[in-house]
Amino acid sequence: MHLVLTEAQRQILSIEAIDKKPNECCALLFGKKDNDKILVNEIYIAENIEKSPLNFTISNEQLIQGYKMAGDKGLEVIGIFHSHPDSDPYPSATDKKFMELNPVAWVIFSVMTKEFKAYMLESELITIPIVT
Ligand SMILES: [Zn+2]
Repeated sequence: MHLVLTEAQRQILSIEAIDKKPNECCALLFGKKDNDKILVNEIYIAENIEKSPLNFTISNEQLIQGYKMAGDKGLEVIGIFHSHPDSDPYPSATDKKFMELNPVAWVIFSVMTKEFKAYMLESELITIPIVT
């Protein structure tokens, strides 16, 4: 399995992450799953209502709106994106807890290392290669 994230999409996400620093930023990724490919079609920037450098929470209202918007476009919420302003792009203990509840691709951008990484938590943590 791999996730396709274009150069333009990386730009949008990294600019948002830098803009929201020192806090984490977050977004929903709309797209489609095609065999072993996860395609991102659209980015839905959400608000981190925690305004925290270490955690993020998307409000239920935004989640509902996001899922509805994806559905209206014939897409699915295939991923959740957030940034790590000052740490490696590796899921925190809290991230892992929420990954269990939201079994989609989790994309993390580290503002520190400028790297994008994608994961999924099944019985164990799986790294999903990201391609352009
Ligand atoms: Zn995190």
